[in-house]
Amino acid sequence: MTFNDLNLIPAILKALEKEKYTSPTPIQEQSIPAVLEGRDLLGCAQTGTGKTAAFAIPILQLLSKQQSKPTAVRRIRSLILTPTRELAIQISDNIKAYSQFTDLRCTAIVGGVSQKVQERALNHGADIIIATPGRLIDLINQKRIDLQYVQILVLDEADRMLDMGFIHDVKRIITKMPAKKQTLFFSATMPPEISKMVKSILVNPVKVEI
Ligand code: AMP
Repeated sequence: MTFNDLNLIPAILKALEKEKYTSPTPIQEQSIPAVLEGRDLLGCAQTGTGKTAAFAIPILQLLSKQQSKPTAVRRIRSLILTPTRELAIQISDNIKAYSQFTDLRCTAIVGGVSQKVQERALNHGADIIIATPGRLIDLINQKRIDLQYVQILVLDEADRMLDMGFIHDVKRIITKMPAKKQTLFFSATMPPEISKMVKSILVNPVKVEI
């Protein structure tokens, strides 16, 4: 199978070609069609399997197909929550590469760096944000970020977010988004707390295991 068999838009195919990705990895082959159909996803996959592109490519395609709004009224339509700053930056860099020929904008919202710079990026308009829970909660508390228009939520490395004590923040963040949305949930392990969350959040998910 090649990426040409996945019904992707030319702007994304062009970026994948530039990145020298020729064929999808197994998790990409399984996830991309399901996410494009609007299904919820439960992925048990480690980093290194091509997980980022497995969720990022279909998100970019779904958002690109919608009418894009002028900068001033651009809304956050997808939120990717991830446990660490390093992972958030890595995902953001990957998404920037995959979206380079689209007009979508993404930005990372992480702790340890100036909040002012991130606020400026948000004011500029972002379609996708990649965030760590702590800094995102700060911005929510300060009413500097609006998650009311989120259509697609990604919870990446959910088990690590639990281990790092972020689960309460994650649950609070989820209450700030519409109930009706598409959710892509990734976790390498399924401790009881995580499977409880999966049951309460996901609707009839497609399961992908690598
Ligand atoms: P990830 O599991 O998302 O961290 O990806 C692991 C590495 O594989 C990253 O460096 C990606 O850029 C790369 N990668 C992901 N998908 C593909 C693909 N289909 N072909 C070639 N490289 C890929």
